[in-house]
Amino acid sequence: IENINVSYQQTLALDNITLNLKGPSITGIMGPNGAGKSTLIKATLGILKPKHGKVIIAEKSIKGKKLRMAYLPQQIASFNAGFPSTVYEFVKSGRYPRQGWFRRLTAHDEEHVRISLESVGMWEHREKRLGALSGGQKQRAVIARMFASDPDIFILDEPTTGMDVGTKDAFYQLMHHSAKKHGKSVLMITHDPDELNKYADRNIHLVRDQQSPWRCFNVHETDEEVVHV
Ligand code: ADP
Ligand code: MG
Repeated sequence: IENINVSYQQTLALDNITLNLKGPSITGIMGPNGAGKSTLIKATLGILKPKHGKVIIAEKSIKGKKLRMAYLPQQIASFNAGFPSTVYEFVKSGRYPRQGWFRRLTAHDEEHVRISLESVGMWEHREKRLGALSGGQKQRAVIARMFASDPDIFILDEPTTGMDVGTKDAFYQLMHHSAKKHGKSVLMITHDPDELNKYADRNIHLVRDQQSPWRCFNVHETDEEVVHV
């Protein structure tokens, strides 16, 4: 991410952000509401185009294959409750983009779906309709689908909001395991400083630029600690 500025109409939301995200690693993004955390993630994904600067994404993963990114938007627990499929079908659909919709799923795919469901404690709920799940269960189903799609980079906007302490801890351990054992990279917005200090390789804190008008933010970071400015 090279020197990007992102504005909404005339309002500057991110000012001159430069970041180099190398994998495999876990990078946390923190900062107050309205600081521009979601904006930074959307610009990274290419959903928002910066006014200046550029975002360069590697075409290939460290394994030499086409790089795949998964994005978990903020507040997914409220996503369409009328979605007609079962949890299993929904998570299984995460396997298709790899080789097209008409391919039959292999035993390896099915295994991946099972592990993904188990990893978020949703295996026993796999036959339920999505609409019948609680908000927290829906969120876990979406996370399981993301694991099933087996991306190289996880980009997560407040994934632990609404999780209880046990689920949260298991989630962080799983992301840590994914990075350390499977070479994944994680870029995650969170309000959990303790968990970040424990699991993240790097924390980025978005702060308000003192010289700039309200709403204009800058990035400060270190390898070790969150910097509060
Ligand atoms: P955070 O995720 O850190 O809470 P956001 O990136 O969502 O912050 O928002 C950064 C700033 O940009 C806020 O002041 C917010 O009001 C503004 N903003 C976000 N989305 C839009 C939008 N679609 N149109 C106009 N302003 C927006
Ligand atoms: Mg946000």
